[in-house]
Amino acid sequence: MHLVFLGGVGTVTGSKFLIQTEKAQVLVDCGLFQGYKQLRERNRSAPFFDPQKLDAVFLTHAHLDHSGYLPVLYQMGFRGPVYCHAATAELCMILLPDSGRIQEEDAAFYARHRIGKHEKPLPLYDEATAEASCRLFQPVDFEQSIAVKDIHARLQPAGHILGAGSWCLEAEGKRIAFSGDLGRPEDVLMYPPKPMPELDMLFLESTYGDRLHETADAKMQIKEIVNQTVQSGGSVVIPTFAVGRAQVLQYLLASLMREGQIPRLPMFLDSPMAIDVSALYARHHNLHRLSAADCELISESIQYMRSVEESKSIANVRFPHIILAGSGMATGGRVLHHLKRMLPDHRNTVLFAGFQAGGTRGAHMLAGEKKIKIHGQFVPCEARIAQLESLSGHADRDELTAWLEAAKMKPKTPIYLVHGEAETLDRFRLHLQERTQHPIHVADQNQVLHL
Ligand SMILES: [Zn+2]
Repeated sequence: MHLVFLGGVGTVTGSKFLIQTEKAQVLVDCGLFQGYKQLRERNRSAPFFDPQKLDAVFLTHAHLDHSGYLPVLYQMGFRGPVYCHAATAELCMILLPDSGRIQEEDAAFYARHRIGKHEKPLPLYDEATAEASCRLFQPVDFEQSIAVKDIHARLQPAGHILGAGSWCLEAEGKRIAFSGDLGRPEDVLMYPPKPMPELDMLFLESTYGDRLHETADAKMQIKEIVNQTVQSGGSVVIPTFAVGRAQVLQYLLASLMREGQIPRLPMFLDSPMAIDVSALYARHHNLHRLSAADCELISESIQYMRSVEESKSIANVRFPHIILAGSGMATGGRVLHHLKRMLPDHRNTVLFAGFQAGGTRGAHMLAGEKKIKIHGQFVPCEARIAQLESLSGHADRDELTAWLEAAKMKPKTPIYLVHGEAETLDRFRLHLQERTQHPIHVADQNQVLHL
């Protein structure tokens, strides 16, 4: 058996591992490269393998950096199956068509602005192709065994987001595993990731392999921020990621209201995607810590604004309120309309609920910039800008290490670190070399490994 590292190497995007055995050829994860231009261009280069000869794809979870390349494979003639948890398939049915729609919009934008160039920019894939690729899903349960020719595979829970799992693959007398993104032991929403069984090799995600998350209590931080804002007569707007974060925030806010820790304010979820994802979390409440009653509490406490008219009507609310709207880094989406309206008023608060990548509006606001460009206009930034840093969906360095220590792997089992920025990978390698007896390796893009 051999393995080729095709993505998620020296970067946290584009996760893709090709596994070839005597009889089968499969891909574990099928992620989109995102961020820097030279990374994004990799999405357009010819794949290392013939998609029509691929026997199956195994997805760890629905985030686009693990699933977003699937429509490209479909375009090249891959016709499945794609094995993943049922909740991952349902999330992908929301996320992949949206990704296609955004790529169509981006291509149209560049076509309009590239004056003098003849070639018409094409989307990597369109919404219709993304929808078609969703027909390839073959949902599996956690711990269910499936076979693809001479490969036996099993998915085990990884926390992180709804449906997320780690794949264990057995072939030719070897057992290897791909952690996928790993969640946290004390997550508000998700259960802890299950430790690994005995293995011959592990491929371990390293997103936060060199960092420790803040230990501040997010619920108490939200309570303070909301109460201070309301006392000064302002409102709170929270730029929100649709998967996971939007559901945690709704739950924390609804609980604070029920417990009388913050006043019962009008609360709006202004994101059709986050509304759809919230319905999935409610339907799959057996997969996370919230009960059916908790999910009920959320839907009773918050108004779901699906149409554009409903979204616009929020501007008429005259007393303090709370808005959750996408996108999470204020790079686009409905939150921009609310920010335009709310940023100039010093009584309001903009509360960021997660990491803000460099260059995004979120990062500019947190850096204290006094004017923010939105829809071509500069908007004065007088509102209070705050951030919750403790709500990450990824295990940090010590949580990853503890998860490893709980595994049944022999102490000398080799580990390849993947899915991390170059510096993070190196620091995490040194940390694990000190703390464990495992031989620790960092893979290179397109590196081939013989097992
Ligand atoms: Zn993820």
